[in-house]
Amino acid sequence: MVVGSGVNGLACGALLAKAGWRVCVLERNDWFGGAIKTAEITAPGFKHDVFSAWHPLWVGGPAHAQLADDLARHGLEYLNTELPTGTLYPDGESAFLLRTAEANAAELDRHHAGDGDAWNALLGEFFPNADLAFGVLGTELWSRHGAALGLKAVRRLGRQGAAEFMGKLLISARDWLKTAFVSERAHGLLAPWVLHTGLGPDAAASGYMAQVIAVAVQEGGMPIPRGGGQRLADALVALIREQGGTCETGVDVERVFTGGVRTSTGEAVSAARAVVCNVTPTQLYGSLLEGAPAKAERFRYGRSEMQIHFALSEPVRWDGDERLGQTAIVHLTPGLDGVSRAVNEAERGLLPAEATIVAGQPLTIDPSRAPDGKGILWVQLQELPWRVKGDAAGEFDVGDGTWTETLREHYADRIQARIARHSPNFESSIVARTVLSPADLQAANVNLVHGDPYGGSLALDQNFLWRPLASQPGHRTPVDGVWHVGASTHPGPGLGGGSGALVASQLLEPPLAKRVVGRLKRDPKKKET
Ligand SMILES: Cc1cc2nc3c(=O)[nH]c(=O)nc-3n(C[C@H](O)[C@H](O)[C@H](O)COP(=O)(O)OP(=O)(O)OC[C@H]3O[C@@H](n4cnc5c(N)ncnc54)[C@H](O)[C@@H]3O)c2cc1C
Repeated sequence: MVVGSGVNGLACGALLAKAGWRVCVLERNDWFGGAIKTAEITAPGFKHDVFSAWHPLWVGGPAHAQLADDLARHGLEYLNTELPTGTLYPDGESAFLLRTAEANAAELDRHHAGDGDAWNALLGEFFPNADLAFGVLGTELWSRHGAALGLKAVRRLGRQGAAEFMGKLLISARDWLKTAFVSERAHGLLAPWVLHTGLGPDAAASGYMAQVIAVAVQEGGMPIPRGGGQRLADALVALIREQGGTCETGVDVERVFTGGVRTSTGEAVSAARAVVCNVTPTQLYGSLLEGAPAKAERFRYGRSEMQIHFALSEPVRWDGDERLGQTAIVHLTPGLDGVSRAVNEAERGLLPAEATIVAGQPLTIDPSRAPDGKGILWVQLQELPWRVKGDAAGEFDVGDGTWTETLREHYADRIQARIARHSPNFESSIVARTVLSPADLQAANVNLVHGDPYGGSLALDQNFLWRPLASQPGHRTPVDGVWHVGASTHPGPGLGGGSGALVASQLLEPPLAKRVVGRLKRDPKKKET
């Protein structure tokens, strides 16, 4: 039984279904996918990814590795690009992250001779231990697999080397970027990416996350499903149903216990083997498992976010480098200090004066999402407070600090005007605009508490070994047979489906006795010792 149909619930359900389990998914909303949804929310014919849009984490993740062929059978097809991302600076200059080491070295050298060598040095250092770096994100850390990963690091690097490696994982993006590259354009190219991991550039471990993303984007690009992100959720549901499972929308689960759940209409649904909860810790321990020993009152949510969707009569024509018009994700920011300032303002309760604008152009990869010749802009703003104390730009009154319609539209106007400064045709081509404030996001999906897109703060004390709770890390709960997945759990947010895959592999792992017998059979000498 899976409670909630986010990417992790569905990935877990699909992996179990493929292994022969009869899976039941219960979803309270009227669509499957949680933060995955494609809909015509602006004007007819314009298909917007309402929340998440970019799938490099899914395509590079463990669930995709096991399910790709089955999902392709159910209509999932990935499209990709050679121009995944770039940053556009206020002076009209831009920098790009491309698909090969040579192209990236040349691009960075364009901004400062020598930064290309620094890029190659980064890759030279990263690749030999990429299995360890990615392993941290693909392993149940508090388990024998986590211990094995630690041992592998010590065997390969020595005790001192392993300690050094672990230390490097904790570096902030600011410290890493300033040590690695001279050009501020290079800093500004990579700094905005830490926002997509729920961090800021001065946070512990943001340097490690920036490196993982930089390498992942170079190697994997920016894949998206033909027809919209919803195709991923639909294919996962189709696979579960094909294997004899059931998936239902409009079912709100109110209580969870060993052996089943109770819905808000009082119906009891039993689960023979496990209940996997794709929820936040506050819901899990506050209501679903009320009375369980773990407590989540101190779990902190992260910054809030806003989405702005534009339907356009023609694609955005950017001033400056012509590659901007073909790039999947363009960040508009003054650079590393600009991102840092906007994060800091949001964390102090202010609307940032100069937010980092994430301008997504899905039609550069998948033209099927809008009528011929039209445009779509997917805009994400990841530096916002939940309760607004003021405006760092001093431009408007924030009222009582809640996300009213007026505040939402005023803030969206500011963002729209900033984009227009870089594009002569942008404002005149707007057919329709739909804005989702943090309050709208929370209303759309109960897991997006305070409009936090990433399932809880990823500050070090709530990340990695300590996610979701230092007192209850990992994916087991104190209640037998009840498991916890989703963005709030390790390896955190994004469309990787990592926590779903980790729980599925633990549920499918043979019991200890069977494993020992299996090992002895494979290596009979071990029996004698
Ligand atoms: C606006 C936005 C943009 C993003 N962009 C990207 C992106 O481009 N790429 C990327 O990799 N990541 C992106 N992310 C992050 C990523 O989408 C999320 O981290 C991820 O989708 C979360 O998945 P999840 O498994 O935690 O479940 P969720 O997506 O949070 O879904 C959980 C589901 O469980 C249901 N549920 C909860 N409680 C119950 C209950 N009691 N009974 C029944 N059902 C219940 C909810 O209704 C929901 O449908 C974005 C997130 C947001 C919000």
